[in-house]
Amino acid sequence: MNNPSNTKSSILLIYTGGTIGMKEDPTAQALKPFDFSQILAEVPELRKFAYKIDSHTFSPLIDSSDVEPGLWVSLAELIESKYDEYDGFVILHGTDTMAYSASVLSFMIEDLTKPIIFTGSQLPIGMPRTDGKENLISSVEIAAAKDIEGHALVPEVCIYFDNMLMRGNRTTKVNSDHFRAFRSENCPPLAEAGISIRYNQSIIRKPENWNVKPTFHTHLDTRVSILKIHPGITEGVVEHILCSTESRAVIIETYGAGNAPSKDWFISLINKALANGKILLNITQCLAGSVNMDIYATGKCLKNAGVCSGYDSTTEGALAKLFYLMGILKENVRVKEMLETDLRGEISK
Ligand code: ASP
Repeated sequence: MNNPSNTKSSILLIYTGGTIGMKEDPTAQALKPFDFSQILAEVPELRKFAYKIDSHTFSPLIDSSDVEPGLWVSLAELIESKYDEYDGFVILHGTDTMAYSASVLSFMIEDLTKPIIFTGSQLPIGMPRTDGKENLISSVEIAAAKDIEGHALVPEVCIYFDNMLMRGNRTTKVNSDHFRAFRSENCPPLAEAGISIRYNQSIIRKPENWNVKPTFHTHLDTRVSILKIHPGITEGVVEHILCSTESRAVIIETYGAGNAPSKDWFISLINKALANGKILLNITQCLAGSVNMDIYATGKCLKNAGVCSGYDSTTEGALAKLFYLMGILKENVRVKEMLETDLRGEISK
């Protein structure tokens, strides 16, 4: 049983933009970005925690559809510069690309010992039926929660949404109008909020050494493209994506357990791309379940050719892992080895 001792926790609330930060301006009768420096006045419920809560607002505030790697670098650098000052970080972010940002941050920060909780909302915080207040308040509580030894209960990069705390690199946005916008099909929730917050301790990753300083990796190589196969896809399209000199790696979104067309032209393009040194990573189009290239002949030929398995990775997690690994490793052989290794809880093997 946990005994969170979180009375003196300090939290940095980082606002990047997105729906959550909108408030009705009665004079203009329109939604306007909310001033997060006034957070305790605007969300008085937060005062009841007696935490120290500071805020940092990015400028310009963006719709998360405009997220670029530069924002991830800025987030990592901000957290690095404030790491010793705060017990946890809550990042308010638009929902559209939240799963990408949470995935990338999980790789950029190695040996994390503190919670980084992404949250947002489907309705602006100033609307009567907003989901933003609950998402924000519970995220702050989770970011502040410690065990009796004073260690963070959840030292991971997570997404908290609609009562569920999910590992960031396992999460996908699945719904554009329900409050339950995110799912983590291949990894159970790290916590669920009801009357109390129930932490799933057996799943939460803990550092081997709590005193180690995290390493912040801010060099990302984003030369990745995604090939989503579908019946009727043409040779020309596949060749264009697999053999482009613009990309160093291609994620192939295959069917079911990692199966792709067995046509000769498809296999020869796979071989051509691999012969040119391209990194090919197989992930499934299914929301749940894993790639297993040993089951069907159509998967076996990919494995035999040298395509890496993404196991049960999400697309966002696979992309983030490639950005990170290609940023730190020059040799594609090393990237391929690490792709099939679980680094941050992003795959189950
Ligand atoms: N388009 C918005 C964004 O991702 C949607 C949201 O915040 O939920 O920034």
